[in-house]
Amino acid sequence: MTSIPVGSGRRPRVLVAGGGVAALEVLLALREHGPTSFHTTLLSPDDRFRYRPLSAYAGLAPDASRTVDLARFAAAAGAGLVCDRLATLDAEAQVARTAHGGAIAFDAMVLATGAIQGEGLPGAITLGAPGDETALAMLVERVRAGTVDRAAVVVPSGVAWSLPAYELALLLQHAAPDGRTAVVVVTREARPMEMAGREFSDAVTALLDRRGIAVTTSTAPDSFDEGRLWLPLEGAPEVDAVVALARPHGPSLPGLPCDDRGFVVVDARGRVPGLARVWAVGDVAAHPVKQGGFAVLQADVAAGDVADRLALTGHAPRPSVPPVLRAALLDGTGTLYLRTERVDGTLRTTVSDGPLWWPPTKIAGGRLPSWLAAFDAHGAGDAGGPAALLGAGGA
Ligand SMILES: Cc1cc2nc3c(=O)[nH]c(=O)nc-3n(C[C@H](O)[C@H](O)[C@H](O)COP(=O)(O)OP(=O)(O)OC[C@H]3O[C@@H](n4cnc5c(N)ncnc54)[C@H](O)[C@@H]3O)c2cc1C
Repeated sequence: MTSIPVGSGRRPRVLVAGGGVAALEVLLALREHGPTSFHTTLLSPDDRFRYRPLSAYAGLAPDASRTVDLARFAAAAGAGLVCDRLATLDAEAQVARTAHGGAIAFDAMVLATGAIQGEGLPGAITLGAPGDETALAMLVERVRAGTVDRAAVVVPSGVAWSLPAYELALLLQHAAPDGRTAVVVVTREARPMEMAGREFSDAVTALLDRRGIAVTTSTAPDSFDEGRLWLPLEGAPEVDAVVALARPHGPSLPGLPCDDRGFVVVDARGRVPGLARVWAVGDVAAHPVKQGGFAVLQADVAAGDVADRLALTGHAPRPSVPPVLRAALLDGTGTLYLRTERVDGTLRTTVSDGPLWWPPTKIAGGRLPSWLAAFDAHGAGDAGGPAALLGAGGA
């Protein structure tokens, strides 16, 4: 492998753009090469990290308000924080320009800016879209008050990791007094969570059946309008409320190779083809599985590759992202844990009511879950702070 040159007498400058799980995992993985090995900068428009798998559910999930101060996190990981947004990237000149006119020079850059949460269905609330948080919170209030008879959750086409739709359906149904709200999931999938294989799908379907949640498969509604969910060929059933998963797309950054939805094309190590100093990980990268657990695994592989290419390691061949998916599905009363991996070309799933990994977090794998668990246990205001916790958290 060819190392990329860095000016002599100084530490390699690594710029990580993003403030989500993928970016934070990259910082933790880089730190393992020594707290002073790199001059690392985190570029994030927000000064706080939010745990999206819980915060998106408008109070239906526990611990939804958890946030982490990014300046403290970055400092503990040996990095600096710039609160701004990546605007453009000149890979040849090795400079990133920010929305507020700043310029940050780098020797290696990791793009972890996530997906843009596009409207899921005209007329519906989009789950996880910042502009729709209030609307979802109001719907949850109405469900809790028992004034919603029928609600639909829609999986639009272009979404492979559909689990949040089934989770939201379970949480809404549980929140309704006496199960008063009839919830249906409408999906273009042939069966729930089709992409994770038959065993995973069967486990989710069985849970939905037990809870009386209907699923309409192989269809993509056109819109929610005047109290009706407009389905092609199947009519327009009346519903009181519709929530759709977001239809994600990428940032289409000029100068970066992108797929037809604007996601950044990467190889198995997260490298952007043709750009020796740029990597992309997490939801911004062009791959179908937009999932936090997958994002942290990608982040670890890319961070290792960054260290290799900056000649900080022995250039040993590194494994690429392991073919494993872990999901913790909340249903309002407990958690169903599912772990799927590819064995001899077949997807095998283990299902359990008890944890299948530790800590048993929604986003599993990598270093960040242990760090967050330690952070929760010790508290953000702990005298030792995250720096002490970083020492305690394992991979
Ligand atoms: C309701 C819901 C439930 C989910 N449940 C699970 C689950 O149980 N398990 C699981 O593994 N995954 C789950 N996911 C998916 C998971 O949240 C995402 O896959 C994961 O957050 C992706 O991480 P990321 O860091 O790539 O992107 P994000 O988490 O989207 O973070 C992107 C970051 O980049 C920042 N950013 C954006 N633009 C710029 C820019 N121009 N410059 C700099 N920074 C920028 C953003 O502010 C943000 O901080 C769920 C998602 C939702 C919506």
